Amino acid sequence: MKNIFLLFAFIITLNIYSQKPVFKGQEPIEQVSTVSKPVQIQWKGIFPFENDSVYFSNDFEGARLNGIIKDYDSTYTALITSENTPINVSPWYAFKVWSKHKKQIYLTLTYGEGYKHRYYPKLSNDGLHWTSMDSTDYVEFEKGDKNFGPGSLPLKVQMKLSINPDTLWVSAQELQTSKHVKKWVEALSEKPFVSNQQIGLSREGRPLTALTIGKEKTARMLIVISRQHPPEVTGYLAMKAFVETISSNLKLAKKFRKKFTVYVVPLMNPDGVDNGYWRHNAGGIDLNRDWTFFNQPETLAVSEFIKEREKKTNGKFYFGIDFHSTWDDIYYTIADSFKGNMPGLVPEWLENVKMAIPGYNPNISPSDKMEPAIISRNYFYVSHGMEALVFEVGDNTNRDFLKKKGQTSAIELMKLMLSRL
Ligand SMILES: [Zn+2]
Repeated sequence: MKNIFLLFAFIITLNIYSQKPVFKGQEPIEQVSTVSKPVQIQWKGIFPFENDSVYFSNDFEGARLNGIIKDYDSTYTALITSENTPINVSPWYAFKVWSKHKKQIYLTLTYGEGYKHRYYPKLSNDGLHWTSMDSTDYVEFEKGDKNFGPGSLPLKVQMKLSINPDTLWVSAQELQTSKHVKKWVEALSEKPFVSNQQIGLSREGRPLTALTIGKEKTARMLIVISRQHPPEVTGYLAMKAFVETISSNLKLAKKFRKKFTVYVVPLMNPDGVDNGYWRHNAGGIDLNRDWTFFNQPETLAVSEFIKEREKKTNGKFYFGIDFHSTWDDIYYTIADSFKGNMPGLVPEWLENVKMAIPGYNPNISPSDKMEPAIISRNYFYVSHGMEALVFEVGDNTNRDFLKKKGQTSAIELMKLMLSRL
């Protein structure tokens, strides 16, 4: 009996001290040309299998499905390809499927040579409300043994889908296209202290929108951007919670908005999002490599907007944040030796966020290489003196937790910035 107790005690101790593997962050970023390159246009329409009365469609914004074949009875294989190459492994997919009669089908998702399956499938009946696929309906093949990165991914997956005459939506992440973002922007803009404006047009002519939270004449400013990379929905969701908290009725938020104005560009890459791209804009370029050359209209519009705000208000941007998604939650910050317009703000803020969320240990990766300033964070710091960071959320981070983190991050930032005045 005593031995069993000892065994339990040992197992409990192991659990307490066994550490979850920590994501080390991405490799250093290489400078690449950001001159536009061709992209492959996705054929859009319905893929019919009349004999089975089964239909797949990619005819909607945010969709990606490049080909599909029937293998045998009720079993299909889909091909998902990227807009161009080279490109990192973030293979977005989204399609609709239905049948004349209620039935179950098996669908294998495959990607081109050198690419793998990354995003756990989400299902919806209306394109608005999403749930993760039941794990018993999902099988991975040739999964890598690494904890993070492409080496952790399966080559392909097979999903079991229960379909009927109603449309089933299957997507890499919750669909948040330009239409959804516009709705959110308009709802937020109903508040008396929030407005929005078009600051430019994307390469395909979609509006680039900036929210203004607070007064336009305020000389103390912050900038928030997100969705340079289309599939990075979890970063976008954290950004929403962050911005909604700054726009809330909290006493703290009201006080903050008297002293600071926050500008938000929630959708940096509307063409990429609506075309279901893996990473690039319609110019075939990773926007987060273009913050020195400004060859792409999306990055150029934001930089012109920042400069215009500084000039009009005779003011300064104190803080810049760019929301993304990656393999696990991480903050890419700037090393302490770089002093911007409010030195030490970011490390102190993240320490306060850590204290405010019991048990949370933020993964922080500071960079001491600011030039060339090809990414937004470096541009914010080098050209405008902003205290800046990249706020990365894991692809699979719990949606309630990322919301809480967005809210807490906003509260702690407002407190700290007010205390620095
Ligand atoms: Zn990203």
